[in-house]
This record gives sequence, structure tokens and C-alpha cells, in this order.
Amino acid sequence: MTTSADRVPYLADRLQGFGTTIFSAMTALAVETDAVNLGQGFPDTDGPAVVSDAAIAAIRAGHNQYPPLAGLPVLRNAIAHHRARHRGQQFDPDREILVTTGATEALAAALLGLTGPGDEVITFEPYYDSYAAGIAMSGATRRVVTLRGVDFRFDPDELEAAFTSRTRLLLLNSPHNPTGKVFRRDELETIARLCMERDVVVITDEVYEHLVYDGDHIPIATLPGMEERTVTISSAGKIFSFTGWKIGWACGPADIIAAVRTAKQFLTYTSGGPWQHGVAAGLHLGDDFFADYTRTMKGKRDRLCAGLAAAGFDVMVPAGTYFATVDIRSIGGVDGIEFCMALPRAAGVVAVPTQVFYDNEDAGRHLVRFAFCKRDEVLDEAARRLLTMKEAS
Ligand code: PMP
Ligand code: GLN
Repeated sequence: MTTSADRVPYLADRLQGFGTTIFSAMTALAVETDAVNLGQGFPDTDGPAVVSDAAIAAIRAGHNQYPPLAGLPVLRNAIAHHRARHRGQQFDPDREILVTTGATEALAAALLGLTGPGDEVITFEPYYDSYAAGIAMSGATRRVVTLRGVDFRFDPDELEAAFTSRTRLLLLNSPHNPTGKVFRRDELETIARLCMERDVVVITDEVYEHLVYDGDHIPIATLPGMEERTVTISSAGKIFSFTGWKIGWACGPADIIAAVRTAKQFLTYTSGGPWQHGVAAGLHLGDDFFADYTRTMKGKRDRLCAGLAAAGFDVMVPAGTYFATVDIRSIGGVDGIEFCMALPRAAGVVAVPTQVFYDNEDAGRHLVRFAFCKRDEVLDEAARRLLTMKEAS
């Protein structure tokens, strides 16, 4: 893991402090210590066979050359259909949808295409790590508003104060990684009002849109006046449990998507063709698939949260995503990084210190994130190991 204190040779100044992601670092530690890996958020089972079969069929049918820059029409049509069916949103597949290499590229292309040096981007902390890096690569400056308390609320006055004459974008994530927070309608209305008043574009990362257990997923683009200023991002990695395929998308007004597409053109030009065929098939799956996915993951949430509570942790049960957060002070912990570095050897479990997702590290020092997108027996084994650690202390 690289912290802002380490200087990495050769690395450009704007990327100092971003050396190795916490996810790679913690997965490497899990492999080295043979621990149960509840750090990096990737499922340990495959997604639906219809989806993988369609990708395999596409390879065999010879769909192996560059797809169009914006993505295969079959996938753009499927994305338009999916957003209309699940979210009541209407997008023109030709002008308002862009297929990307994962949500990560959609985020990077949006930041690079829409902002630059001298501009400011507001986001909430803790933030998903590629936000800070993407903003840094664009040359813009980030301004963070801290989510506080057990339900990770923001102070509307603090948010308002974060806007300046240089604010170009607000980068939102709901359901929110790492906290599992699902932004409520009144919170989204506050954000929307300020962005409309200040003529700011919203980039909203909704990769966990099908993983909401309590309350509803409300795309901010569906609030009055927001459709024309919002880029909505999602990802097949999170919807279909194929995180290694790296197919994501951005939907929004044609002129904003055109700017994102220009940046994407020179990042990767186009994204994996056969996978696009697979994802297109998946997006047409029936409601039972999406309901089952949510129900299964909710069961895993409850299973892991019960295990964490039994092991003595105060658990902040997430309303969405596949991550649960604990307060380590409940078992005598102080610093999340120290705790997570010691945990594999103390208990044989890997988790992620939430504090690395903050500018204001003190605000997240006591928080640690566990992923529950794993087989039940893996979650049970982690819980058993954590309980053993508690009993031994
Ligand atoms: N945004 C969030 C909030 C995430 O948790 C992740 C990790 N899956 C991504 C974006 C990146 O998605 P992808 O793997 O599709 O690039
Ligand atoms: N999104 C995943 C997580 O939060 C990890 C993705 C990555 O490794 N970059 O755990």
C-alpha cells in the first residue's frame, strides 16, 4: 500500500500518493497469509450462464474486431431498455449512451472530458479511490464533504460551502462504496438544488444500483431538472458478477456524452467486443434474475453482519452495496490501517481500512470495511475466525 507520505520514483507529481490501490495491496496480503479475503470487492462465483454463453458464442461467431467507439448497437439498445425498464429513464442509444471499459473508464473519461486545471470537483468522503486519482489526472482540484455519523449524513451547509465559482462537477456515488449508504430523496434534492443553482454537472456512479436492501435506489438524474445535467454510470461487473470483463457505461445528455466519448476515444478507443454481446444478453434477463440477485446478496449481508456482531464489532448495517462497515473501537481497535495489517495474522481474515478513502483521515480512522459478495461458507469461516480472535482476547 502506498500512502501520501511515500514518494514513488518516476511517478508524475499529480499521481504521487496513488502508487498501489488498497484493493490490490490487501488481496496480495490475503494471498501471502492464506487469509479469507473480505477485502477486495469481487464475487467468488460466476454470474449467469446466459451472459457468459453469449460472450463465448460471440467469440466463436467471429465478433473479434474493434466494436464501434460508442459500443455495439445491441448493447446500447439493451442499456436503453434496462434504464427505461428499471429506472423509468429514456436515453437515445445512438447519442446518449457510451459503453466503456468498466465504470472506472467511464469515470476517468467523464473527468478528463469535462474538467481540467483550474476547475474544482466536489465529492463526498469516504470516496471510492479512483475518484481522487481521476480528478488528479484531469488536473482539477477536489473538494470533499465528509459523511459523518453512523448513517453517514452530510451537512447541507458544508456542502453549500464547498461550491465556489470554479466548481465544474459534483461526483456522487449511491449506493455508496465503502459505507453502503443509499442516499435518501431529501439528500439528493439538496444536492440537485445546489447543482442547478450553480450550474454544475453531476456525475453519478450507480454501479451498485441493483444492490439496495433498505429504501429505494433513486437515480439523481430522475429528479426534476437533473436529466439535462447528469451523467449516470453503471457497470456489468457489479450487476452480473463478471468484474473481470470490465464493461461499464455512461448515459446522459448528447452534448455531455459527446465530451466523455472524446476522452474515451483516446483512452481505450473501444471496449471488449465479445463481452459486450454477453452483457447485452444479461440486461434483457427477466425481473426474477434481478430480484434473486438482490435477495441473495441481502442474505449475505445479514449473515456477515451477524457474524461481525457476534465477534464483538459495532456494525453499520449497509442499506446497499456488498460492503459492511464496522467501528473497530468496539473491540479496542484504534487505527484501521494498523488493524487491517495485523488482522490476517491475528485472525486469518482480510478487510479494508476505510481511512484510506478520506482526505481527513481522522474522520475514518476507526472504520473498517468487509466485503460480503462471497460464498456463504467463506463468510461463515471468516465469522468463525473473528469469533475465535475475540474469545482469545
Ligand atoms: N465505482 C465504484 C463505487 C466501485 O465500487 C467500483 C468497483 N467495482 C467501480 C466504480 C469500478 O467499476 P468497474 O470494475 O466496472 O470499473
Ligand atoms: N470496487 C472494488 C472494491 O471496492 C475493487 C475494485 C478494484 O480492485 N479496483 O473493493
